[in-house]
Parts: sequence; C-alpha cells; structure tokens
Amino acid sequence: MSIASNLEALRLETEAKGVQLVAVSKTKSNSEIMEAYEAGQRIFGENHVQELIEKAELLPKDIQWHMIGHLQTNKVKYIAPFISLIASIDSLKLLKEVNKHAIKANRNIDCLLQIYIADEDTKFGLDHAELIELLRDEEFLELKNIRICGLMGIASNTDNEKVIKAEFYELKMLFDGVKASFYRKDDYFNILSMGMSSDYKLAIEEGSTMVRIGSTIFGKRVIKHYKNND
Ligand SMILES: *Cc1c(COP(=O)(O)O)cnc(C)c1O
Repeated sequence: MSIASNLEALRLETEAKGVQLVAVSKTKSNSEIMEAYEAGQRIFGENHVQELIEKAELLPKDIQWHMIGHLQTNKVKYIAPFISLIASIDSLKLLKEVNKHAIKANRNIDCLLQIYIADEDTKFGLDHAELIELLRDEEFLELKNIRICGLMGIASNTDNEKVIKAEFYELKMLFDGVKASFYRKDDYFNILSMGMSSDYKLAIEEGSTMVRIGSTIFGKRVIKHYKNND
C-alpha cells in the first residue's frame, strides 16, 4: 500500500463523519511527507521541536503543523511563530509561556489541553482536578493570545478494547462537561483529539473529532531517532 492510498482509505472513514485527520509524520522523511502532501494532506503532527522546525523550514508553507508531543517551556519560542495547534498543553506554566511567545509573534495560538486518561504512569496530561483548577485560575483567564480549542488524550497501550473504550468515553464526558461549563458560547471549543492507528475506530465511535494517525499512513516507524536524509 502506498502513502497516497493509505490516506485515501482513511479519508473515506473520517471525512464522512466530520473527523479531522492529522498525519503524524514523526521520524518520517521530507519525501514521505511530500507524498502525503501531494495526495492532498495538509495537517501534519510532530512530537519533537527540533524535528518539527527543520521540517517546517523546508516543506511547503501551507502545511498546518501540530505539536502533539510533550513540550518543554524553553522550546516554545521556536515554534510559536508558525505552529497551527499545540495539542499537548499539560500545565498553566506551559500555557503562560505559549501566551508570552504568541504576543511576541503578534498572533494567537490554538491549544488543546492534554488530559491523562490512560492507566499508565508514563503518559503526560492533566487529571480532572488539575483541569478544573487551571480553567478557574485567574492567571489563566488573563491569557489573551492563546485559545483553548478542546481536549486531547491518549488511551492505554493495550489490546483490551473495553479499557480503551472506557477511557475515550470518560474523555468525551469530560469534554462535554467543560464545554457546557466554560465554553458554552465559544464555537472554537470544538476539538476532541483522540485516536491513533491502533484505536481510531473506537475513538470515532466514542465521539472523537480529530484523529492523529502515523503508522497506518506511513508504515511502521523503524528509525527511532530522527535524521533527515533528503
Ligand atoms: C506517534 C503519535 C501518534 C500516532 O501514532 P500511530 O500509532 O503511529 O498512529 C498519535 N499521537 C501521539 C501523541 C503520538 O506521539
């Protein structure tokens, strides 16, 4: 299967349901990304700042780059001028830094709050209490150059569909609750980012509006460490 045909098949599954498809291109070369681009894909997700900025510099300017990996505050400045969405906000401190550099870049930056839903210690994200605390924080309410567009979550890495379904269900309930309590009148709060190659079908069933898919499009990631060989 080619990248183009993989994408086409995924589009059939997502577009009809109004689900946005983020092509996760981490570790993939610029020529592989261009194959997806030429097949019409414009939204790409990366999880390392260095890799992201190197790719963004060389690849077409109409690509919308999403930062989907853990973001350190000291790296925000490198992506603030151009990033289309930061999907992995997990603290007020990080959000304040994003706001600061958004002001410097004279723009607004769209963000998702990452919620911890997996039954694992290794995943980043806010728990429910931290989420509510953040949304009520006076410092948060003063941040004018960021826009919270929704929530993001990563389910447990397990074959147990029941567990994954329950985690997605929980995130959807949380999304609906936050929407009703904090963003009822704000149309921009409409992204529920959940689902990757192994679980995107379940995620869509449970109400995902944005799936982040890498290996189903580009094939397995064999290279662990990024090196751009183009
Ligand atoms: C790598 C990654 C994905 C995509 O993973 P696949 O299993 O290759 O689809 C999605 N979300 C995040 C946060 C990732 O780091």
